[in-house]
Amino acid sequence: MGDTIFGKIIRREIPADIVYEDEDVLAFRDLNPQAPVHVLFVPKKPLATLDEAGAEDAELLGKLLLAAAAYARREGLAGPGYRTVINCNEHGGQTVFHLHVHLLGGRRMHWPPG
Ligand code: AMP
Repeated sequence: MGDTIFGKIIRREIPADIVYEDEDVLAFRDLNPQAPVHVLFVPKKPLATLDEAGAEDAELLGKLLLAAAAYARREGLAGPGYRTVINCNEHGGQTVFHLHVHLLGGRRMHWPPG
């Protein structure tokens, strides 16, 4: 995959409001938040899309979701609830081609999404 803005954030080449980091995952606030809490959970491994993930990435995908859930719990979002989203490719609305999980919370979400 080509480099992306998220790759630059992971390498600390451009700034971001980082809220969580471990060996495999980086999380930072979305620049254009769609909810009071809007954080992106990004694997340090440069996967472009969910479609590119394979069986070898099963643990990594689990870590991304568990990191998002733990963050939501710490921020008091788990009780009221929150949403996680992975957009994939054009019809999914993906604009940055480095896999990421959106965590949205702090307001009531609507369904179906647009
Ligand atoms: P997606 O449309 O699912 O690919 O989501 C990409 C998200 O990245 C959007 O919600 C953007 O607002 C967000 N975004 C783009 N550039 C940055 C940045 N430099 N720092 C934080 N979030 C960003």
